[in-house]
Amino acid sequence: APSVCAPLPVLGRDVTVPLVTGGEVTYAALDYAASAPALQRVWDDVAAYAPYYGSVHRGAGYLSQLSTDLFENARRTVAEFLDCREDDQVVFTRSTTDSLNLLAAALPADCRVFVFETEHHASLLPWRGAQVTYLDAPRSPREAVETLERALADRDPYGPALVCVTGASNVTGELWPVRELTAAAHAHGARIVLDAAQLAPHHQVSVAGLDVDWVAFSGHKLYAPFGSGVLAGRADWLRAAEPYLAGGGASRKVSRRQDGGVDVEWHDSAARHEAGSPNVIGAYALASACKALTEAGFDTLVAREQYLVRAVREGLADVPEVRFLSLFGDDAPRVGVLSFVVEGWNSSHFAAALSAEYGIGVRDGLFCAHPLVRTLLGSDPQSQGACGSPEAAPGEKSLNAIRVSFGAGTPDEHVERFVRAVR
Ligand code: PMP
Repeated sequence: APSVCAPLPVLGRDVTVPLVTGGEVTYAALDYAASAPALQRVWDDVAAYAPYYGSVHRGAGYLSQLSTDLFENARRTVAEFLDCREDDQVVFTRSTTDSLNLLAAALPADCRVFVFETEHHASLLPWRGAQVTYLDAPRSPREAVETLERALADRDPYGPALVCVTGASNVTGELWPVRELTAAAHAHGARIVLDAAQLAPHHQVSVAGLDVDWVAFSGHKLYAPFGSGVLAGRADWLRAAEPYLAGGGASRKVSRRQDGGVDVEWHDSAARHEAGSPNVIGAYALASACKALTEAGFDTLVAREQYLVRAVREGLADVPEVRFLSLFGDDAPRVGVLSFVVEGWNSSHFAAALSAEYGIGVRDGLFCAHPLVRTLLGSDPQSQGACGSPEAAPGEKSLNAIRVSFGAGTPDEHVERFVRAVR
């Protein structure tokens, strides 16, 4: 049966790549979880605006004012896309990694941080100045909530605390119980930040509806080009913090003191953390992608993507050598991200063969989530290298995995070719 609707037009549809077996084939981009191809619509919007852009927030010239309007409208579009509360701030950053590092730099003194070991390194590692509690990998959504509740109950209830959790895993694609984790965090007086890098491209994220305190995501996974990201949410910690970068744009007033020093008044708005000339085209492109996804409708996008997830699962169900990786069980709800190992194969060789023989681009490795992938593979951390291509001796467990991921721009043919190739 055909899938439920046509894929959205994206860049790179017609790119052809050579095959080692001779001839060439159109490239099947099945690594959306790393970076999704930009929507054609986003590219067209950027091309229409590009001749008119100017630096924002400073110039009296017409194009400068136009750009300032577009930049601030982009902020409003993102706030609407995320269904933010009225007094939330939307800060433009470079990426999810940047957004979470910004929040880490804005933690109040003596803040405790709680994070599952299963997180992407962007969520696992930024909390360097804080006291961090790493929570063991849960094997069900309920266990995740119970684990968090236990850890929070053990802490000093009067100090500030932050929970950082992913909305959808970049390894298994599994959806995490964000609403329940948020309720648990709040019941224990903690705040929560949602890493929506993998969730926002696939599902409607409502900051107000989920009641999360902050959300972070990246433009390049949401069908916009590289270089833009967002941290959106509660203003209080952001306003109380030192600016993430010090410089023009973040400062409202700078004056020389009698004693020769310098006094600075920083902005209270999102500009406080956006010093320097901002990535106005990046913000504009990201907002264009938000609008395009909203117009396409997440119900339709989800239905189409779930059709493709089923096509992969069912197409490989009778191949016993293929083992999909999951924390919460094979049938747990997930986005269009699936990782697997193939018995008897080195994952890196397998991924290389998919590329060389079929023109299919997937990812192999530990996906910047080393503790999670090791847990899923049941492998010994001592025996592994870094993100590269560790070799498993014959008969040994795989040391890394293969990830296939797709989304709004994926034609059925790419997934069909993938299934055929793996078989
Ligand atoms: N969190 C998750 C769940 C991710 O999948 C990624 C990207 N792989 C990131 C954070 C980091 O995103 P970026 O590289 O755009 O900063």
